[in-house]
Amino acid sequence: MAGEPHAIVIGSGPNGLSAAIVLARAGWKVTVFEAERTIGGGVRSAELTLPGFSHDVCSAVHPFAVGSPFMRTLPLGRHGVEWIEPPAMVAHPFDDGTAGIVERSIDRTAAALGRDRAAYEKMFGSIARDWPLIETSVLGPLRWPRHPFALAAFGMQALQSAQSVARSAFVGETARALFAGIAAHGMLPLDRRPTAAFALVLGTMAHVAGWVLPRGGAQRLTDALVAHLESLGGEVVADHRVTSLDDLPPARAVLCDLSPQPFVRIAGDRLPPSYRRRLERFRYGMGVFKADWALDGPIPWRAAACTRAATVHVGGTFDEIIRSEEQAWSGPPAERPFVLLVQPTLFDPSRAPAGKHTAWAYCHVPNGSTTNMLPRIEAQIERFAPGFRDRVLARATMSPADIEGRNANFVGGDIGSGATDLRQFFARPTWKGYTTPVRGVYLCSASTPPGVGVHGMCGYFAAKRALADLTS
Ligand SMILES: Cc1cc2nc3c(=O)[nH]c(=O)nc-3n(C[C@H](O)[C@H](O)[C@H](O)COP(=O)(O)OP(=O)(O)OC[C@H]3O[C@@H](n4cnc5c(N)ncnc54)[C@H](O)[C@@H]3O)c2cc1C
Repeated sequence: MAGEPHAIVIGSGPNGLSAAIVLARAGWKVTVFEAERTIGGGVRSAELTLPGFSHDVCSAVHPFAVGSPFMRTLPLGRHGVEWIEPPAMVAHPFDDGTAGIVERSIDRTAAALGRDRAAYEKMFGSIARDWPLIETSVLGPLRWPRHPFALAAFGMQALQSAQSVARSAFVGETARALFAGIAAHGMLPLDRRPTAAFALVLGTMAHVAGWVLPRGGAQRLTDALVAHLESLGGEVVADHRVTSLDDLPPARAVLCDLSPQPFVRIAGDRLPPSYRRRLERFRYGMGVFKADWALDGPIPWRAAACTRAATVHVGGTFDEIIRSEEQAWSGPPAERPFVLLVQPTLFDPSRAPAGKHTAWAYCHVPNGSTTNMLPRIEAQIERFAPGFRDRVLARATMSPADIEGRNANFVGGDIGSGATDLRQFFARPTWKGYTTPVRGVYLCSASTPPGVGVHGMCGYFAAKRALADLTS
């Protein structure tokens, strides 16, 4: 390495790369150290099943990336990112062969919801209208908002539980189940606050940004972030696990794309005991059991509308989803788990040999669970797509331990880098947010505000904090 870098970023997830880009844009020389042999953290693709079948190892659907106020400023298209928007955003099949659909248009989504039409239009219409005013507050740290009234209107609903908002706003099963399915991305029991926030934010993103996929897979997004960083003079060193902050070359700033547990492992001795204790009390949430399939043909959904969306929420009724998420928190894992499924090759044939397909799915399980959920996930898909199993050419699975083994941030398989319960919604991972008591050392992972998702906003705000502290 020539000369001394001014800034070091530990971890090459989307937040680490975003922090690196903000610093490099400010004229700093930046080196990113990545523990794994492949770059990208939660945004990677690989041939997990058979040669020629490319699977997203972690993130697959990227409304936050296109909707991110920071990522929108990056020349991702110039570096090869092409977003594919499926005709519908989410499909949610039911046992009677019908499906609820979230369309890009609020009106068209609401029009199919019968008696809940007006309630859906009112709920998502008002948030979508205010979104440009509140997006940086919602996707950022707690601070005084520029548009307090718009944010307050959103916050009053968002801080409720998804269960209570769905029950009070909607009367029909379709709207309630759609709402619960989207809220379940938050990985908390749906009777807890603030699970409504996930449904409202992700639901709004379906209408204002789109639940899109990068052509060729998630790795393309990482590759573009790296190419942009390199064009600004930064570098990424893969296969380089940082085991102690003391081993790093001298740098003015160190930004850690780490959740609290791996951060304490490398910084523990330098942290004041009270701060260290607070990090050790940080709570990881439910884990994930994931499966990927190489398929001989598309998934044979009974509800044909399911082929219009890349994302399919496979969980049946509102009550079933509530039960499944409760069991994923308290155990034992559900017999009929709520399954989040993505079928990318319907819209992006480049990811599989001609005429073949892939599918990606996971369900939530208690943190660190060792239960093999593959039979239950496949039974849920088969329930709504009879004949699915006959199309399977090969399958690969990842237990919570495998997920943590591929990325130290996802402790116990918690892909959210920490539970987003009410306390950790505001104090993430502590009230200090990005700042640590060690001068020049910052946290920039999804364990800081605004949390889980591929938006780079944690990295953006952490790097801005570092620049404000260290260049004033
Ligand atoms: C199965 C799965 C599905 C998901 N689906 C979606 C989705 O569809 N859409 C979405 O928006 N989000 C999704 N997510 C969540 C998303 O991937 C994460 O929120 C996001 O990657 C967090 O980014 P990050 O930069 O904070 O950290 P990470 O992506 O976790 O990256 C951290 C990096 O730090 C590295 N690291 C750790 N310790 C060290 C060390 N000591 N030295 C050097 N490097 C180290 C890790 O190897 C890793 O590369 C999914 C995640 C998983 C696992």
